[in-house]
Amino acid sequence: MKLLIVEDEPAIADVIGAYAAREGYQTRWAADGEAALELWKDDSFDLVLLDLMLPKLTGEEVCRRIRAGSGVPIIMLTARGSENDIIAGLDAGADDYVVKPFSPRVLMARVRACLRKNGDAQDDMKSILRVGSRIEVDPNRVEIRKDGQPISVTRNEFLIFSTLAVPPVRTWSRDDIIRAALGDEYDGFDRTVDTYIKNLRKKLAEPGHENGWIQTVHGFGYKIDDSGKDPS
Ligand code: CA
Repeated sequence: MKLLIVEDEPAIADVIGAYAAREGYQTRWAADGEAALELWKDDSFDLVLLDLMLPKLTGEEVCRRIRAGSGVPIIMLTARGSENDIIAGLDAGADDYVVKPFSPRVLMARVRACLRKNGDAQDDMKSILRVGSRIEVDPNRVEIRKDGQPISVTRNEFLIFSTLAVPPVRTWSRDDIIRAALGDEYDGFDRTVDTYIKNLRKKLAEPGHENGWIQTVHGFGYKIDDSGKDPS
């Protein structure tokens, strides 16, 4: 397992590198956003630890660019712990975040959880799910397809959509979605689910399917909309 550490403070990068080595992970370190993209291009990584405040390119921008071509797990390291900053990171495509100052042991636990979830997503569910006649959810390729065309989604967006899509269709509360899709260790709150759903809808919606095949059940949560009819 190889981690890309993107962090402009050498002392923090050193600590992360030391703990990662103890866990048996290989690491490479980039001290700014441009260096991160260079390393990303010439090597392959299983997970990215990405500082949000970086010289040259912001962590959000680095995240967007990596995410444009890859579903690699990305954990944001942020000194800005406000809900809006966290949501901005998730919007950029991060899977998880850790607020500075953090305990290196806690960070490593999040890394393990993220890698495990990724492995589970690849190993455990093999059958392709269908939503209505046009949407396919393919766990083998971690891909959502509309009319056979892959839609670019993040890993967490994929996990949430596929959780909702597993038959029989039922209504899920936000808490249940977090637990079932992202696991008990996921340190999320209700609004993060709304953010993931909003992003999924942005990617899937079209005239006649403005809700992106995800129905809001007011006062409760969400369910998959496989009716094939216009949402009310
Ligand atoms: Ca920084």
